[in-house]
Amino acid sequence: MQFTPTLTPLTGETLDSLTEKLRVQGEPLFRAKQILDWLYKKRARTWEEMTNLPKPLRAWLAATFDLAPLSLVLNRQSEDVTDKLLLELRDASLIETVIIRAPQEGVGVEHSRKTICISTQVGCAMGCVFCASGLAGLKRDLSAGEIVAQVLQVCYREDARTPRARTELASFDNLVVMGLGEPRANYDELLLALKILNADWGLGVGARRVTISTSGLVPKILRLADEDLGFRLAISLHGATDVVREKIMPVNKAYPLAKLIPAVRAFSEKHGRMVTLEFILIDGINDSLPQAEKLRDIARDLHAHVNLIPYNTVAGLPWKRPSLTRQERFADILRAARISVTLRREKGHEIDAACGQLRLRTEKEREVASAQPPV
Ligand code: SF4
Repeated sequence: MQFTPTLTPLTGETLDSLTEKLRVQGEPLFRAKQILDWLYKKRARTWEEMTNLPKPLRAWLAATFDLAPLSLVLNRQSEDVTDKLLLELRDASLIETVIIRAPQEGVGVEHSRKTICISTQVGCAMGCVFCASGLAGLKRDLSAGEIVAQVLQVCYREDARTPRARTELASFDNLVVMGLGEPRANYDELLLALKILNADWGLGVGARRVTISTSGLVPKILRLADEDLGFRLAISLHGATDVVREKIMPVNKAYPLAKLIPAVRAFSEKHGRMVTLEFILIDGINDSLPQAEKLRDIARDLHAHVNLIPYNTVAGLPWKRPSLTRQERFADILRAARISVTLRREKGHEIDAACGQLRLRTEKEREVASAQPPV
């Protein structure tokens, strides 16, 4: 389920597909590389900036392609240098893209490691009970062009006067596909987007810098294992036994741990990459010591890294994050077994940090505003 826009997003074109469109148009084929250079290397934001293209070609491009199929609605910045961008698509749907900075000791924020977290769907159909993204269900899949455009939007918003300054400012270290939606449920468009981002004529983002998360769609994990590009894999586990996982993640009914774990093992054996197990700690649900012990066993078996994430409260949902003592006790069980583990500290808790929450709140405000009689 996708939206068909009037103009095709230029960010959804590959070098081959654009070359073919130019050939049909009777244009020299080398123009395709020039156009993509303007988009990805020089970060042009208007057709007029593309000064080495003839005017009639620029006019055809403007009538055919959308240079940026989304726009910035809000940029919420938290004290701990997390930026949450609320972006509006051409059909007025809202998505979130997040920039997470990890300041390094002794250097300024501008030199911190930067991770960009992108969305793949408007909403989500997976129904995890703790998640704001899935609260209103799935509205639609994003196109490859909309997925790529999120990364460019991050580059654009690093306000800079010249293309060179934009390129320098917009450098980032890692890309994680963990925003709104289940990435594997929009597999083909996501893969196309990642190929565009990875290509040398695109943004040149190395596959090792890209992590794709999944709630556990086993057939898609196995399909990703067969791809040549060696992306990294993260599993949203959130429960270390079927009983607990099934309570909070409906996907576990179709793909219980007995199916999920062998698929993850197959992926890491094929690519030789350490997989990450994401585990949101929810008070009284999955934060018990027996859960920590089961998680330790799974992580040891898979040689996986564990990322513990204290729950960010979502308005309207009853779940809470455990106390700091309980979080540390849980992490200690893993540390004692020499499992590679991080316990995430506050990153954006005060800016509707739970994935999808900013979008949900803005949509509600819009609904209320449109229901008001005009004054
Ligand atoms: S946690 Fe991920 S898979 Fe589950 S509902 Fe939220 S966005 Fe979808």
